[in-house]
Amino acid sequence: ALHEIPDVSVPRYVRVNTLKLDVDSALLELQKNYPVQKDNLLAELLILPKGTDLHDHPLVKNGSIFMQGKASSMAAPALSPQPGWEVIDACAAPGNKTIHLAALMKSRGKIVACELKKERVKRLKDTIKLSGASNIQVLNEDFLNINPKDPSYSKVNAILLDPSCSGSGTSASRLDHLLPSKTAGQDTDMERLSKLATFQRKALQHALLFPGLERIVYSTCSINQIENEDVIKSVLPIAESYGFQLAKPFPEWQCRGLPVFEGSECLIRTDPAEHGEGFFIALFVRKDASSDCSN
Ligand code: SAM
Repeated sequence: ALHEIPDVSVPRYVRVNTLKLDVDSALLELQKNYPVQKDNLLAELLILPKGTDLHDHPLVKNGSIFMQGKASSMAAPALSPQPGWEVIDACAAPGNKTIHLAALMKSRGKIVACELKKERVKRLKDTIKLSGASNIQVLNEDFLNINPKDPSYSKVNAILLDPSCSGSGTSASRLDHLLPSKTAGQDTDMERLSKLATFQRKALQHALLFPGLERIVYSTCSINQIENEDVIKSVLPIAESYGFQLAKPFPEWQCRGLPVFEGSECLIRTDPAEHGEGFFIALFVRKDASSDCSN
């Protein structure tokens, strides 16, 4: 039941689906009923007052705007996919970031949206349909089973890896932890976290194997170091051996990774209290493809 409580502590962010509507038209339409501001970091993000209920708004119903927090709206722009690129969204359902990628690519090029769980594929397909994106192929598959040496993946330029995580940065989870019964389960929580981290590491290492890859974004909606900085730290030497470096997306963003290894200032964190949800983003760029973190 806690999961149904709307988080009214932060503004309501909506992402304009630029495949269907331009930002200024969305702004004008929403301004008829609400005070609306543009976000200063992401051009397609609009800010409405806390607790604004838009579930039944026509722009939501017809896929012109999607209710998506600021933090999770930073992942696709961090990857910065170009129109015409081939991109894999490795863990795609329910598809919020998939369709954001499609919008940034202006529906040109190709996105393979990979989702392991059959029951979540329907939701993914519904999101894609609502968005109007026409360059997305849905694959009901384990990302770890996609063969990077398969010639059909030889031209993949970028991968978005937003794997299953503890969700400890989401408001529902944070409220959940206020329940007294939660303190009893700390051991099993640790076990669960280390299982998740093992998968996250494996998936990131797998992503590095795609031969034509220029950019990888790894993101979670977790605040746990073990799922975030620790994953990046342990995979970094392997990534570097393939020619990747950490790069610094959104250099103006102040809240960066925990200082647990050299280069962690490249990482992005969002703070649940300040930014509405706890989120983590790491960007790897192949050396010759772009500037590194120090630039
Ligand atoms: N990126 C999504 C979005 O923004 O809407 C959210 C992704 S959610 C955090 C992680 C998803 O990865 C889940 O739907 C889960 O079923 C899927 N998943 C977990 N393991 C997977 C695997 N090995 N291969 C592909 N998908 C997987």
